[in-house]
Amino acid sequence: MIREHPESVVVVMGCYAQTAPGDVLGIEGVDLVLGTQDRMKMLEWLEQVTTERKPQNAVHEIWEAEEFEELPQLSEEHRTRALLKIQEGCNQFCTYCIIPYARGPLRSRLPENALAEARRLVEAGYPEIVLTGIHTGYYGQDLRGELGEEWNLAHLVRELVKIPGLCRLRLSSIEPMEYTPALIESIVSSDKVCPHLHVPLQSGSDRILTRMNRPYTLHEYRDLLERLRQRIPNLAVTTDIIAGFPGETEDDHAATLEFVKACGFSGINVFPYSKRKGTPAANFPDQVSRQLKAQRVKDLLLAARVSQEEYVRYFIGKPVEVLIEWIDSQGCALGYTPHYIQVKIPANEAGRPWTPRHFVTVVLEKGMVGRV
Ligand code: SF4
Repeated sequence: MIREHPESVVVVMGCYAQTAPGDVLGIEGVDLVLGTQDRMKMLEWLEQVTTERKPQNAVHEIWEAEEFEELPQLSEEHRTRALLKIQEGCNQFCTYCIIPYARGPLRSRLPENALAEARRLVEAGYPEIVLTGIHTGYYGQDLRGELGEEWNLAHLVRELVKIPGLCRLRLSSIEPMEYTPALIESIVSSDKVCPHLHVPLQSGSDRILTRMNRPYTLHEYRDLLERLRQRIPNLAVTTDIIAGFPGETEDDHAATLEFVKACGFSGINVFPYSKRKGTPAANFPDQVSRQLKAQRVKDLLLAARVSQEEYVRYFIGKPVEVLIEWIDSQGCALGYTPHYIQVKIPANEAGRPWTPRHFVTVVLEKGMVGRV
């Protein structure tokens, strides 16, 4: 790109730029390195760079960041689900994860700003909002005392569901130990909150969880799922698992497969462990070979497929509500149910073309096909 457009001003921003600004600035042709903070000051920096024609490193120590940086929301008219970012950063320091180094400490978006943004999104026609962040379950921890009242995720959810016109609110990833009784109450007390929760597991071995610096045991995790399922029938639980974390033995891997079977997940994201420079796990001596990691990923993906099929089976033959997201080249509509089952609805079943952002109730058939 730099070769093709030698006159352009090249700005590099994001996690890699934040953690290795010197390396990025050393790339010939890079004019400005910005990182993950102060992005609203980009125009000021650009003026300086174009005036001085001298590469600039604008990356600051991320752990000095104290406030959530408000960025203008870009309009994405092709989307049906709007992402509402409510939080940035993480203080957890899992041993494999670069995020605390790249994104800094927990910073919550002010509730009035989050709510105003949500209202704007609903007015713009989004029927569903997905709450996002890095460590969403700790939303509000850094706001305590400052606002004269306690703000946490449970409180924010209670306020969001009051927004007229909002049909669905989906919570993204929330760490297992952060489902407080108040949060569970907020989830169950509104039918706008989707019965789909993402609860990162990472490993089905307590020994590996400790090495990962994950603050829960398998017993606590199972107990949480039971409590959630008692309150939310047919709850969809999705998760993340890392395969081949340093020191993971065959027994640990087998335990993870067993645990997955017992949890009844509706979806699993499987990642092979990958070293992140500067994190403790990158220096653990007992790294797992690439071949072994690939095999374990394969095993877990198979287990994930079986688990998902079992979960979906309950809904076969039953009516489900689908929010249409897009139309394929054959005119079939594709979208998601509140339980995050992707459904394909054949073209012209209702005698007219399907339209994104509309709800339709269909009967779910095998192969996740919906019939009107
Ligand atoms: S995995 Fe999640 S909780 Fe752990 S350090 Fe990374 S962002 Fe934080």
